[in-house]
Amino acid sequence: MASHIVGYPRIGPKRELKFALESFWDGKSSAQGLQKVAVELRSSIWKQMADAGIKHIPSNTFSYYDQVLDTTVMLGAVPPRYGWNGGEIDLDVYFAMARGNASVPAMEMTKWFDTNYHYIVPELGPDVKFSYASHKAVDEFKEAKALGIHTVPVLLGPVSYLLLSKSAKGVEKSFSLLSLIHKILLIYKEVVTELKAAGATWIQFDEPTLVMDLDAHQLQAFSHAYSELESSLAGLNVVIETYFADVPAEAYKTITSLKGVAGYGFDLVRGTQTLDLIKGGFPSGKYLFAGVVDGRNIWANDLSSSLSVLQTLEGIVGKDKIVVSTSCSLLHTAVDLVNETKLDEEIKSWLAFAAQKVVEVNALAKALSGHKDVAFFSASAAAQASRKSSPRVTNEAVQKAAAALKGSDHRRATNVSARLEAQQKKLNLPILPTTTIGSFPQTLELRRVRREYKAKKISEEEYVKAIKEEINKVVKLQEDLDIDVLVHGEPERNDMVEYFGEQLSGFAFTLNGWVQSYGSRCVKPPIIYGDVSRPKPMTVFWSSVAQSFTKRPMKGMLTGPVTILNWSFVRNDQPRFETCYQIALAIKNEVEDLEKAGITVIQIDEAALREGLPLRKSEQTFYLNWAVHSFRITNTGVQDTTQIHTHMCYSNFNDIIHSIIDMDADVITIENSRSDEKLLSVFREGVKYGAGIGPGVYDIHSPRIPSTEEIADRINKMLAVLETNILWVNPDCGLKTRKYPEVKPALSNMVAAAKLLRSQL
Ligand code: GLN
Ligand code: ZN
Repeated sequence: MASHIVGYPRIGPKRELKFALESFWDGKSSAQGLQKVAVELRSSIWKQMADAGIKHIPSNTFSYYDQVLDTTVMLGAVPPRYGWNGGEIDLDVYFAMARGNASVPAMEMTKWFDTNYHYIVPELGPDVKFSYASHKAVDEFKEAKALGIHTVPVLLGPVSYLLLSKSAKGVEKSFSLLSLIHKILLIYKEVVTELKAAGATWIQFDEPTLVMDLDAHQLQAFSHAYSELESSLAGLNVVIETYFADVPAEAYKTITSLKGVAGYGFDLVRGTQTLDLIKGGFPSGKYLFAGVVDGRNIWANDLSSSLSVLQTLEGIVGKDKIVVSTSCSLLHTAVDLVNETKLDEEIKSWLAFAAQKVVEVNALAKALSGHKDVAFFSASAAAQASRKSSPRVTNEAVQKAAAALKGSDHRRATNVSARLEAQQKKLNLPILPTTTIGSFPQTLELRRVRREYKAKKISEEEYVKAIKEEINKVVKLQEDLDIDVLVHGEPERNDMVEYFGEQLSGFAFTLNGWVQSYGSRCVKPPIIYGDVSRPKPMTVFWSSVAQSFTKRPMKGMLTGPVTILNWSFVRNDQPRFETCYQIALAIKNEVEDLEKAGITVIQIDEAALREGLPLRKSEQTFYLNWAVHSFRITNTGVQDTTQIHTHMCYSNFNDIIHSIIDMDADVITIENSRSDEKLLSVFREGVKYGAGIGPGVYDIHSPRIPSTEEIADRINKMLAVLETNILWVNPDCGLKTRKYPEVKPALSNMVAAAKLLRSQL
């Protein structure tokens, strides 16, 4: 019985690739040094899969930055500004495209489907001269072969590649990216021919866009592309791999009728409907790559339940045609549980990272062919049972409280205009009030204090003293700058989710559970394993300290439930919304405690609300409803005079603006400055917005200091579409990645701009 892995993390079990890349970028090591690390990582991954017994081992899933960029480079589709003039593309051009350099900015980066991985968006137009400019796929195949490992080269499929691209600047609106298919297929044919010559017997085309809402024209592109490739593919087994959701019925029909394709990979973890589609008909003689092991999460597989799904499928597609696989590339999960030396043993027994998932896939394949590893299966069953019955997972009271929220609605009793009036009486703010988003620069000294406190190298007393001093400094600075609504600067926080997760029950943290976000950037999501509750107040102490340093309003600063959920590995034993409601209740308690402590403005960040949006339209309303409801739950209990702010880090929410309004916050601050004022166009088109709103007046991602005139100009543009009395003046996001020499003049200009306009109104 065959086994297969869709793809594997490339960053390394201890982020070896990250450190090698950064040292190369800093000029501290050579290209050879970087390549050596890459070769070692690849060979250890291949060997590990081979040792585990995996039959179809992927190659070309390694990348120095991103697999979509790798495809762009394979096709020679380098935008002219990077000055490439033919030949095999080298690391300099490659990294210039990925990250920019002193003379050119990077290409655009965007989210890879609904994951936290980001890819480099290809820029294409009618004039792009494609050429076969990177032999990476073939080189990696040969590299593995030299180690005695026969791999399945993986390519991003041609149709998905185009659907994930954007038109280059200046290209006419009527231009269709899909019209480039014939041109890029010529290159794909060259690659395929070379892979065949090198001895490849299987090839995998990733076509994840098949799970999206595609129109007939887009679906047709798949039929056309693969029939055009058919003759080149002769003699090779082709698997078309889909993932991240189930495939809609139309798409299923289209791809299963492709000729020249040997098999299909489906995500059976997220795709509940796929099973029915397969039951309804699967082309005879084709392979089914059954993605039963979850590539998006860190939970150990329920082997016996997967086995029974596989047995059902085997009955449909035939004994020798089923291949056990992962639901998607393991890129989206953590690398190796072996390095989690500090994790509680019971919790650890419930988990499987990429390395462990490989073993699970193999165990399932063996069991399916009648060679069940009885000890492994019973250990799995024991872990599943312990997870189900463990008292650390279940908290009856929390379950009850969260269940009571379902189906009900929660809104503040008074409408937003009346609330704003009541708040203004208390706060007495000028028009165009100024504020910041929360964090102030995180200096090395601050990081040291936190690290040493965590390592118990300094006492609690010393720690509290140091943080108090820092808060005091930040408060005084804001008073000097004459900012209206202050923040404490978040010096006690490492990360906006981790900080809360560490204080809530139901969360666990890993030492090395890193997942690539983009390039060398990784995130380490907390693991939500149990019912969430708040043993004691989390932020009241520091917020009260901060408020005691000033007469001006001090914002309490919280991370919202949807963001905590979307930036964590979540439970798979209950629906996401249930976990979200539990977090919402914990945050609600915190909001109410802050209010009791005399904090009159409370900001609840929902930086990641949009990230959880399902890929398909039909599922989006449901998500938005419970996500927005969760946010409202956190603050329905406060008085009218308590002002609730929220903050969001993206501006492309034209499509979800009604949900944003439905959050019913008193004030929302949002990123705006990098987005050509897409946001303001919503209001220009007549969307009614009555709450306070602070579209960021300058970009905090850049060290550039904006001038007073420039900021005033921005505010004026906003005033053209928004009522004067609802507009706030603030930067785009938190200031933690900036330095004081940038922050001080930037904020000073921001306040000056607000004052200038006040004097003119
Ligand atoms: N309050 C957080 C900060 O200022 C918000 C961060 C974010 O939106 N990503 O750092
Ligand atoms: Zn932000």
